[in-house]
Amino acid sequence: MQIETMTKSLFINGSWRDFDGKTETVYNPATLEPITEVAYAGKKETEEAIEAAAEAFLSWSETTGRERSTILYKAHQLMLEDAERLGKILTMEQGKPLNEAIGEVKGAAAFLLWYAEEASRGYGEWIPSSNKNKRMLVIPRPVGVVGAITPWNFPASMITRKIAPALAAGCTVVLKPAPETPLSAIEIMKVFEKAGMPNGVVNLITGDSKAIGEALLESKEVRHITFTGSTAVGKYLMQESANHVKKLSLELGGHAPSIVFEDADLEKAATLVLGSKFRNNGQTCICTNRLYVHESIAEQFTAKLTEKVAQLKIGSGLEKDTEIGPLINKKALEKVHSHLEDAVSKGAKVLNGGAPWDGNLKGHFYQPTILSEVTNDMVIMNEETFGPIIPIQTFNDESDVINKANDTDYGLASFIFTENTSRAIRVTEKLDYGIVGVNDVFPASPEAPFGGIKQSGNGKEGGNHGMDEFLEQQFVSIGI
Ligand code: ADP
Repeated sequence: MQIETMTKSLFINGSWRDFDGKTETVYNPATLEPITEVAYAGKKETEEAIEAAAEAFLSWSETTGRERSTILYKAHQLMLEDAERLGKILTMEQGKPLNEAIGEVKGAAAFLLWYAEEASRGYGEWIPSSNKNKRMLVIPRPVGVVGAITPWNFPASMITRKIAPALAAGCTVVLKPAPETPLSAIEIMKVFEKAGMPNGVVNLITGDSKAIGEALLESKEVRHITFTGSTAVGKYLMQESANHVKKLSLELGGHAPSIVFEDADLEKAATLVLGSKFRNNGQTCICTNRLYVHESIAEQFTAKLTEKVAQLKIGSGLEKDTEIGPLINKKALEKVHSHLEDAVSKGAKVLNGGAPWDGNLKGHFYQPTILSEVTNDMVIMNEETFGPIIPIQTFNDESDVINKANDTDYGLASFIFTENTSRAIRVTEKLDYGIVGVNDVFPASPEAPFGGIKQSGNGKEGGNHGMDEFLEQQFVSIGI
């Protein structure tokens, strides 16, 4: 698929802007070949976009939920109809296998549908007063202009997961996608344009992350920053938001433990752990990063898992049957390999993989890897790897493994595998995580609240909770 040069990658106030400044190259991470150039804009363009969004907010916030719903629903339909082509673009810029990319586009469209439905359900409250002469009500009001900053690992669904609830609530948006994956963002803006979104309601700026971020942070008009990315950048945004006391929703790093108990269905658990670790090549914030297996089943389970991992097919995401694509860039590969080397130097045993993939493509590929004899002092047991390595540790005591699972500053997702309902509930209640998957490793869905605790962030995306993030509650007290 040929993609034209996109110096017009800035969508401001309903039109695609010519940009005669610097451009930035977008690469295919499988081949390292350039795909296209996009505008490398900065503060000035972001300020224009904020101004447009602030102007549009005046009328968009006064539309009825049903009016907003109609446009979001149209956008959902358009995105679904075009899912194959959008999936191809996503694979080209991000690397994930095409079936995963098309699945992501459909998932992204599902957020538009869900919030099209929610748009007309922004209910308020009537509070029974303790004073006979007063009446009390609570009115939800859209927070204002929203700055959305999105990552490269889900170039489509992270956008709609943020933008759809903001728009449904009556907010307007300035979006800054990751520099690695601006093309899906451009396509999503085109979807909104075609769906009839009024000018200025959604705006897109590609370019200098720091400068765009500064413009969003420095503006009084931007009342909410919604961000998915690293904990370090999340902390920076939080600090800098203090000046204008902005609202924040932060989806930051994770370090997900998966625990396989002796009463698990081992075949099912092995398949699920495989999906959890190797989807998107380990580059999701809820990917299993540490695997704890009960010692009584460890040998049998590890053998099953190793057999499955050894069969994974590596290659370009555009090739049929590919299951493992490239890592996003060289830095990612270096980090993954450093975790491997550190573990091996401290005594870990490599059961599969253990090195970059020496295939026929230039991209930064890594062999799907399993490590056993893993100890707590290894970096991989303490930091997010964001790549295709599973470190396995055994355990023999339920409360001990819960303590190990909780022994981290992160608190996004955790997974447990057991066929014992009492144990599932008991363990879930002790896990300090925003999300617990019980025999389920794909918990993200439009209707449910997704989000972490501790240093994995705050706020929720998805469900009615996701729309609440973009609403202020105005309390009205009426004397009668
Ligand atoms: P990663 O290391 O996985 O790319 P980042 O947190 O660096 O995670 O990136 C997530 C998003 O945050 C991207 O869109 C990136 O461009 C953006 N970003 C990075 N640094 C800043 C910054 N200083 N201000 C605003 N956005 C930033």
